[in-house]
Amino acid sequence: MGVLVGSWEKERHRWDTIWLAGQRDTDPPTLFDKIIKQEIPATIVRETDDILAFKDINPTAPAHILVIPKVRNGLSGLRKATPEHAEILGKLLVMAADIANDDSLGFGKADGARIVINDGPAAGQEVPHLHVHVIGGRYMTWPPG
Ligand code: AMP
Repeated sequence: MGVLVGSWEKERHRWDTIWLAGQRDTDPPTLFDKIIKQEIPATIVRETDDILAFKDINPTAPAHILVIPKVRNGLSGLRKATPEHAEILGKLLVMAADIANDDSLGFGKADGARIVINDGPAAGQEVPHLHVHVIGGRYMTWPPG
């Protein structure tokens, strides 16, 4: 941390939750880590320094994209979120909006999209690496099953 962090901050462990956040993520890697490392193929539709978006292999609609943080940083699910995740969570939603506006991905066929985060087994979450589903291209019903 060097000279950038003063004694007041050191004493209060001000930076621990930020700088050690990735090291606290002790959950095993998932198949999404393999997609990030390009060890298994995926159709990538957007990529930034910290986000990857790719087509869902088993789409539930004509357009179905998954948006994930490249570094999980403890976010096996949304219920693990803390204030330190606010920036990446915001970026994920902005990316989801950009994708949902992209007619070339099939979203133009119906006016609207469903942006979903399944959190936990009761909600149908299968992969413990936070992911935002961006689903569209058809009309949907509510409530979900
Ligand atoms: P969830 O059920 O919310 O955890 O969503 C996991 C999603 O990952 C499902 O919609 C799957 O179809 C999708 N999925 C699983 N394996 C792959 C893969 N290799 N490439 C792309 N999507 C996948």
